Amino acid sequence: TREALARIERHDGDLNALVTVCADRALAQAEAADATLAAGAGPLTGIPLIHKDIFCTSGVRTSCGSRMLDNFVPPYDATAVEHLDAAGMITLGKANMDEFAMGSSNETSFYGPVRNPWNTDYVPGGSSGGSAAAVAAGLAPAATGTDTGGSIRQPAALCGITGFKPTYGRVSRWGMIAFASSLDQAGCFARSAEDCALLLQAMAGFDERDSTAVDRPVPDYAAALTGDIKGMKVGVPSEYFAEGLEARTRAAVEAGIQELEGRGAEIVEISLPHTDQAVPTYYVVAPAEASSNLSRFDGVRYGYRCDDPADLEDLYLRSRGEGFGREVQRRIMVGTYALSAGYYDAYYLKAQKVRRLIADDFRRAFEQVDVIASPTTQGPAFRLGEKLDDPVTMYLNDIYTIPANLAGLPGISAPCGFVNDLPVGMQLLAPWFEEGRLLNAAHAYQ
Ligand code: GLN
Repeated sequence: TREALARIERHDGDLNALVTVCADRALAQAEAADATLAAGAGPLTGIPLIHKDIFCTSGVRTSCGSRMLDNFVPPYDATAVEHLDAAGMITLGKANMDEFAMGSSNETSFYGPVRNPWNTDYVPGGSSGGSAAAVAAGLAPAATGTDTGGSIRQPAALCGITGFKPTYGRVSRWGMIAFASSLDQAGCFARSAEDCALLLQAMAGFDERDSTAVDRPVPDYAAALTGDIKGMKVGVPSEYFAEGLEARTRAAVEAGIQELEGRGAEIVEISLPHTDQAVPTYYVVAPAEASSNLSRFDGVRYGYRCDDPADLEDLYLRSRGEGFGREVQRRIMVGTYALSAGYYDAYYLKAQKVRRLIADDFRRAFEQVDVIASPTTQGPAFRLGEKLDDPVTMYLNDIYTIPANLAGLPGISAPCGFVNDLPVGMQLLAPWFEEGRLLNAAHAYQ
């Protein structure tokens, strides 16, 4: 813990990966963990980690990357945090992120952009960019993240580490500030699939405080890591290798797939025909749910409140107008429109139907194959500022990651090479609740 705090002190000035460092609290936690060591410790006892600032942490400010929650100190821990604490892990601090997890580059944060440790002129990806940059720079061996449309897998790819999103419902969302409730899933970043298996073991499980947490036994994930993938059928979807994929990124991912083949996997070409509908579908569903979730930030109960409101309406308008950044406001506008009377059927309901078609594509594919392999992104990290003025180009970043969220599937991104001295990742997807199989495939590859 001391070593990690020293590295944060030394390097985070350049990276801006953390918005809050809780040094004293971490050292006290570490002392307590030391005291339990004699009694026999678990694999995570005393291991420091960083939580994305979307997870409520009791007594520690939880900003969600927003001015709106700049002063918010939750009185309770998120379930995922509670579980990792109980496993003996030490909280070093809270990671910078895109405001309310809306973004792919960590540039929408109220606290300024995070920088990619491989080259600080480049973005780390987002929205869990602080978590990814911190692990990549060795500020911590692990971090939590959330993935609504790719926010774990994309920054993991751009920072050259392993990022893991479990099945929707596998980890409780309680205490995780909601963006798009039917898509949000907690997960983790580490240097390997093996470490992710240990983290998932602690994070996963039923929680009656989250109505969508799934009541299903948590298997022994470490036991699934045999490294044996002989005979495993790996599906390669042609739609993920189409126009837009940068040539050297494609070559790196293809080399990764060949490596899986070299370890005994069988490569099968598959088709996921509704892939091109995923981004437009997501950008109806996610803003719609966000507009509803973010209505709770009204300047009355908690969070930012404007100065000297003239009346209640002025209080609402100015608190929200001043507290939310541009991207969040854009999403609220789009979402409110998509849910309004007369448009609901044309947009939200239609998007939910297309979502079913996307999930059905996967269901059919998994009748043929055990896992699916693809690029995580179309290319390596881009320069800070490069895509800021063009939301649609920014949204297209998540073209390969969003389908898994719409379907609720587990996914992982593992580093598979470099383009222009910047890392790129290979994405693996598995059927619902087959995290063990997925982690083993990534482990065998690593
Ligand atoms: N980049 C996507 C968005 O802006 C996904 C973000 C996420 O997964 N939280 O909505």
